[in-house]
Amino acid sequence: MSKVLIIGCGGVASVAIHKCCQVSDVFTEICIASRTKSKCDKLAAKLAPTTSTKITTAQVNADNTDEVIALIRSYQPELVMNIALPYQDLTIMDACLACGVNYMDTANYEPEDTDDPAWRRIYEARCEKEGFSAYFDYSWQWAYREKFEQAGLTALLGSGFDPGVTQAYCAYAAKHEFDQIDTIDILDCNGGDHSYPFATNFNPEINLREVSAPGSYWENGHWVEIPAMSIKREYDFDQVGHKDMYLLHHEEIESLAQNIPGVRRIRFFMTFGQSYLDHMRCLENVGMLSTTPILFEGKEIVPIQFLKALLPDPATLGPRTKGKTNIGCIFTGKKDGKDKTYYIYNICDHEACYKEVGSQAVSYTTGVPAMCGALMLLTGKWNKPGVYTVEEFDPDPYLDALDKYGLPRSESHAPVLVD
Ligand code: NDP
Repeated sequence: MSKVLIIGCGGVASVAIHKCCQVSDVFTEICIASRTKSKCDKLAAKLAPTTSTKITTAQVNADNTDEVIALIRSYQPELVMNIALPYQDLTIMDACLACGVNYMDTANYEPEDTDDPAWRRIYEARCEKEGFSAYFDYSWQWAYREKFEQAGLTALLGSGFDPGVTQAYCAYAAKHEFDQIDTIDILDCNGGDHSYPFATNFNPEINLREVSAPGSYWENGHWVEIPAMSIKREYDFDQVGHKDMYLLHHEEIESLAQNIPGVRRIRFFMTFGQSYLDHMRCLENVGMLSTTPILFEGKEIVPIQFLKALLPDPATLGPRTKGKTNIGCIFTGKKDGKDKTYYIYNICDHEACYKEVGSQAVSYTTGVPAMCGALMLLTGKWNKPGVYTVEEFDPDPYLDALDKYGLPRSESHAPVLVD
């Protein structure tokens, strides 16, 4: 019996909203609010005849804390699900604190304007201190820990697949499979084909920023940073087959390094086809991935935002995408004094997702964990005051919910390891 405000109505939010509407006994009322209200209205009209969840919609610019506060005060939700963009994480957290409401999101904070001198000073000091140069990190949101604790509120960070389910897999392995985890390899494989020469599976700006950045991994207590795409491996993924994958920096490595005691190494690999990499390199070389505004015919434009306008909207890839995703974690470590390996992963079929909720599997594998994270908070399973990432909670009810609502786990106790 809960009232939830969902901010954002893009690819991921649309799946999460479909899923909330399948669990109407918990999500009794939802308000879908986004910058473009017409998208919220369209989705609400589609879902209303299929669900007993009461759906309303609203317009909000979540960059503006006061607008979010006004919306929360008028709607009075128990939880705000931030499924807009990482740029809005802090403004929405501020609004939740001001109104005494729990918070969750699917990606950690990163600024829209990476040329902002005030932000850049802090960023450069962090690069120096920590040893990785990604624009996003947890420090901004961890800085809210005390405020959420004092307010008696919970903020759940990063409840998508990766971050999100991958951390629950780590917590599960630590709880049930190992006495000591030595290494974690997170493997994110998308074996889907949408037949466009180039498109990104989620927000192009966020996606291209992430994959064009230097890679990094955690080893023996510190970060090792490497040039973008310079570590490549091949892996034979269950139900997908052989794929090339590349080591990337990824946000959950940062929190796992703190929360998995004694872990020696954590790496993240994502699969990319050659055509994707060639397009990305070319776009980068001509300056199209830049976030620095340029003057074009008297008007200021940001190259990566212009590129976003040209590329296919990820939300439209659903009907064209065939194949499967396979995302999971491979562990090495010890149990009862003996060496042990373990692989836990999910396989998701693009066409089946489209049939169920009208979206491809990349949105689906993020939107379902967003709903399941909200379910944990709304049913009292994951409530503790403060700011937490997924591995800091009991993984069992979350993985049970994922099994039930569309992302069942698979396991292997003798996986092929990544060298
Ligand atoms: P989309 O670009 O498809 O959707 C973003 C939505 O947020 C749109 O509805 C957009 O509105 C809205 N929005 C943007 N800015 C504002 C604003 N200032 N105020 C209100 N609404 C706003 O993104 P995705 O659905 O692909 O991604 C959503 C989130 O999920 C991102 O944070 C992304 O990083 C994260 N993600 C996490 C993954 C994981 O595994 N953890 C994997 C994939 C994505 P409008 O329509 O007006 O543009």
